[in-house]
Parts: sequence; C-alpha cells; structure tokens
Amino acid sequence: MKHITEPKRKIPVYGNFDVVVCGGGPAGCGSALSAARNGAKVLLIEQTGCLGGMGTAGLIPCFAPFTYAKEPLAKGIALEVLNKLKALDGVGNSPKSSTSWIGIDPEKLKLLYDKLMEEAGVKVLFFTAVSDVIKNRGKITAVIIENKNGRQAVAGKTFIDATGDADIAAKAGVPFGKGDNKGKMQPVTVCFSAAGINSNEFKTLRNVTFKGKNSAMTEKTLTSAEGKSLPRLKFGEYRFIAQKDLGGGVWGFNFGHVFDIDGTDTDRLSFAIAYGRKIANNFIAYARKHILGFKNASLLQTSQLLGVRETRRIKGLYTFNYKDYVSQHKFSDAIAVYDYPIDIHVPKKSRSIFNKMEREFTKDFVLPYGKYYSVPFRSLVPLKIDNLLVAGRSVSTDRMTQGALRVMPLCSCMGQAAGLAAAMAAKKGNSFKDTDIKLLRETLKKQGAKID
Ligand SMILES: Cc1cc2nc3c(=O)[nH]c(=O)nc-3n(C[C@H](O)[C@H](O)[C@H](O)COP(=O)(O)OP(=O)(O)OC[C@H]3O[C@@H](n4cnc5c(N)ncnc54)[C@H](O)[C@@H]3O)c2cc1C
Repeated sequence: MKHITEPKRKIPVYGNFDVVVCGGGPAGCGSALSAARNGAKVLLIEQTGCLGGMGTAGLIPCFAPFTYAKEPLAKGIALEVLNKLKALDGVGNSPKSSTSWIGIDPEKLKLLYDKLMEEAGVKVLFFTAVSDVIKNRGKITAVIIENKNGRQAVAGKTFIDATGDADIAAKAGVPFGKGDNKGKMQPVTVCFSAAGINSNEFKTLRNVTFKGKNSAMTEKTLTSAEGKSLPRLKFGEYRFIAQKDLGGGVWGFNFGHVFDIDGTDTDRLSFAIAYGRKIANNFIAYARKHILGFKNASLLQTSQLLGVRETRRIKGLYTFNYKDYVSQHKFSDAIAVYDYPIDIHVPKKSRSIFNKMEREFTKDFVLPYGKYYSVPFRSLVPLKIDNLLVAGRSVSTDRMTQGALRVMPLCSCMGQAAGLAAAMAAKKGNSFKDTDIKLLRETLKKQGAKID
C-alpha cells in the first residue's frame, strides 16, 4: 500500500469530559448511563444515528436469555432496559420470561435509549466516528473524532472503549488477539425484518409448513426438494439462527452467514453487507413461494450495521478463559454473572465442524441448570493504558469464552460496571489498576447489579 504524510495541524477541542464513552451499543449505553448516574460529566460518541448497536442498527431480533435458569442473572441497567422496553410494548409477541429469547422492536429501543440518556444528563454525539487517540505517558488525553464538523479532539479524564471492535484500545497500542489460531473469525450476518407475515400460519422456523408439509426449516430443507427456488449458495450460508414475531405481521430475522470476513477491514465489511442483503432478498423471495404465512411478505429492512460476531479481544489484566467458564469460577473482583453458553459459529463452510459447534452450543457447553460464571473487573482493564476500560464483546477473554460473553444482556452489565469505575476514577484521579474493588462491587450491588 502506498502512503502519504498527513501534515500536522491544529484541531478544535470539542469538549472536556470526566468520562468519554466510544460506541453506543449495549455496553456503551450501560457505561454512559452508569457513569452519569454516578455523577460524571459524560459524552457518548456513536458513529450511526441511533443508540443500541446491534440491537437497533444491527436489527438483531432478540435479547439472549437473561438466564437459562429461573431468576435473571443479567440485572441492573440491562434488566431496567428490558423492563422499560416491555412497558413500551417493545418486545413484540415474544414470551416475557427471563429464560426466553426476548424480541426487540428496534424503534422502541432507540427511543428508550434516547430518553434514558436525556434523563441521566448524558451528552450524545451521533454521526461521529472515533478515529484515533492522543496519548501521554500511558494515558489517553483525548480521542480524535470525525464528523460533519470535521476533525476534532475530545479531552477526557477517563475513556471507555465500547466500539465492539476495541478500535480505541487498538489505536492506543493495547495488545489484542483476533479470531482462532489461524486468525479465522466467525461468519457475519446481515439481520433483517419482514412485514406482511401471517403469524397464525408461521410460528417458528423450526416448525414451518412447506406447501402443506410440516418440517423444521434447516439448511437441508431450504436447499433440498422444497427449496429448489432458493438460489443455491454454499453450505452454511443459509443458516437460520433466530426469528421473532415483533407484532403486526412484522418479524425480525437473524438468518444467513457470510464467511471469511474480518470485521476490522472495511473492504471486507463492504463486501459482506452487500452479500448479506442478497441472502435476505433471496430468502424472502423463496419464502413467499414455499412457506406458509409468507405469501404476502415483503422485506422491510436490512440492517445498517453488519452483524460481526468477533474481532479483537484485548489483552487485559486478566484473560477470562475456558477453565473459568467450566468451573463457574467466582472472582473476588466479579462485576457481573451469567450463564449463556459458548456460542461460536463455524468459521468456514464445513458440515462436520458445523455439526460439532451446533452440538457444543446446545449441549456440551451448556452449564448445569442454575450454575453460572462470573466476569472479573480485570478483564475490562487493558494492559498499557491507565485510564481506559474496554466493555462489551472485545473484553479480555480467550477465543472460546468470547463466544459466551458477547451477547447483549451481559455486554450491558459489563458496561454498567465500566461506567461506575470510570466515574469513580474521574473523581479520584486513580488508574484503573488501582480501582477500589470493594467500593465498586458494593455500589454495583446497591445499584441493582447481580455480581455473586
Ligand atoms: C449476527 C449476530 C447475531 C447476534 N444475536 C444475538 C442475540 O440474538 N441476542 C443477543 O443478546 N446477542 C446477540 N448477538 C451478540 C450481540 O449483539 C453483540 O455481541 C453485542 O451487541 C455487543 O455489544 P457491544 O456494545 O460490545 O457492541 P455493539 O452492539 O456492536 O455496539 C458497538 C457500537 O459502537 C459503534 N461504533 C463502533 N465503532 C465506532 C467508532 N470507531 N466510533 C464511534 N462509534 C463506533 C457502533 O456503531 C455500535 O453502535 C449477536 C451478534 C451478531 C453479530
């Protein structure tokens, strides 16, 4: 690649904040709310025009269960958001228990986050990408932002990287891992919603009627006899994952895989979003002809954000790993607990690996009923930078357990802890390494989080 030298220039400082949160997904929203509610002056920077990340701009149709047992494990802000979304009639026709995959009406969730930020006094800057950092002696002093106003700096006492991809940590020189031992990452998905579906006829992809014949809608049924008109892509590309009845004949779909995508490479992201849109369109065209309930269906929307399951995992003070997961280790600096299983989508089009991973997610890796693991604060604290925390799917884990920690309820819980710790550090001026863990945990508990 050719390079040119960018001339040095003075840029305006947009503002100075106690806590600067980069990325407004579940982790970033949890962080910003928690920091502001604990007295910090907070800026939340988001590259799209809405909050919620994969749950809104990414059109993920549902929250993962808040527990696999009985009482919710993901509590605090995560549960508050869920309960308020339910009160807004924003979960469609999904079952309402904590053990279910609960539907998301993305417009209601956007509205809810806007309101919560306004009430908490969080300043939100939409349509703004964080592109770089300015460092001084192991601390970030400012992040560089790009938006319609041009290039500016945002100064802060503490920073939270909730970009999902650890963009800020990577720019700051924090070491990270990516993908499996060959650098291969899970496939990505373009989620979508469709309207005009007859919900009396179509209940679930696992039990659909193909022209009068009941069947589970698997890869096999989609590409075999009944599926002749579904253009044949490669094995694994037409994988269904989840679907939710969002009410009024509208359903949300997490369907299809695009392989060999590095979510930190914009050329590959550009390819994948277009390919995923093709899958979504093909599926609806197919379903209209062959699946009961879809006769009048139309594709309502494909997601603006590409569904990227994994990219960077930062190296933090502690790397949460498979041993911690299976032994359900309870850390003395635990800031969240959860029981979602290891969920890794096959990185290549291989039927045998696909079957193995499917079995692992549904059986081998599922913890015994009522058992759960905890997430240590140290996994949110990156090496090398004193005033940065990372929350959400790129925290410090091994490859396997990233597959468990990456879902939205837990990302929100991690965000809540990060926001509180950042507000505390901004007040005291300490490095995150020296966080008062006792105070952090006591305050989290008081503020509704479940941490033990
Ligand atoms: C296809 C797919 C299906 C999934 N299904 C489910 C499911 O059913 N249930 C569930 O609970 N979880 C599901 N997950 C997992 C979950 O959605 C994500 O892992 C989770 O949203 C991660 O939260 P986050 O806050 O870390 O990141 P994200 O939700 O990705 O949010 C990151 C935010 O940061 C913004 N951002 C990124 N970079 C920058 C930057 N440089 N500057 C400014 N803003 C930036 C993005 O626009 C985005 O809003 C799924 C994930 C995928 C990809």
